[in-house]
Amino acid sequence: MKTLVIGAGIAGLSAAQELRKANHQVILLEARNRVGGRIHTDRSFAEVPIELGAEFIHSSRVPTYSLAQKLGLRTFHYNQRDDTLVRLPDGVLRTVAEVGAQAQGYDNVRLIDWPEAGEESLEAYLKRLGDRQIPFKLQEYISDFDHPRYLSAKAAREYLCDPSAEEGDYRLLDGYD
Ligand SMILES: Cc1cc2nc3c(=O)[nH]c(=O)nc-3n(C[C@H](O)[C@H](O)[C@H](O)COP(=O)(O)OP(=O)(O)OC[C@H]3O[C@@H](n4cnc5c(N)ncnc54)[C@H](O)[C@@H]3O)c2cc1C
Repeated sequence: MKTLVIGAGIAGLSAAQELRKANHQVILLEARNRVGGRIHTDRSFAEVPIELGAEFIHSSRVPTYSLAQKLGLRTFHYNQRDDTLVRLPDGVLRTVAEVGAQAQGYDNVRLIDWPEAGEESLEAYLKRLGDRQIPFKLQEYISDFDHPRYLSAKAAREYLCDPSAEEGDYRLLDGYD
């Protein structure tokens, strides 16, 4: 059977690989002049790879971690230090230490006490809950990822309520691509 896969981002590449394993003939169509989509490693700027897109593997629980292990790719465990800069939802850059100091008042707000999230954006979820104080862990999550409009409320809640979320991230030393 012949299958056409549109888009050579990680989703399209994975789908094409699975189809090939199942002996399908695959045509992978990509609009750009490179594969990878939002995974985009640049090697023209420096001797080390610079990530213009995805850079972290978010814990050892996610499929990209097992894939990296299987392929023997070198990983580096990354933990934010006190002087690491983070971008807050209002766009301001602060060090982790400063954010921690600011967050003292949020210590008692636990995400676990928040109602279940549906298949909605994090922005819609926060609006639905009205003027509740946003837990610090959630603020950190938003500043680490993207605008709440583009984040899944359900995924954010599941991720943050998982006790192993404290594990931190990994980088791929030789480039995400
Ligand atoms: C700046 C940035 C940082 C990120 N950091 C992380 C991170 O640290 N860790 C992490 O896990 N994730 C991160 N992400 C998210 C991650 O990169 C994406 O979730 C993932 O790469 C999406 O893969 P995808 O295949 O679903 O989509 P995409 O990568 O968007 O791939 C879609 C592909 O389809 C092509 N396409 C679209 N329409 C057509 C068409 N009509 N015809 C042909 N081709 C088409 C596009 O050109 C593209 O190549 C980051 C994303 C960005 C932008």
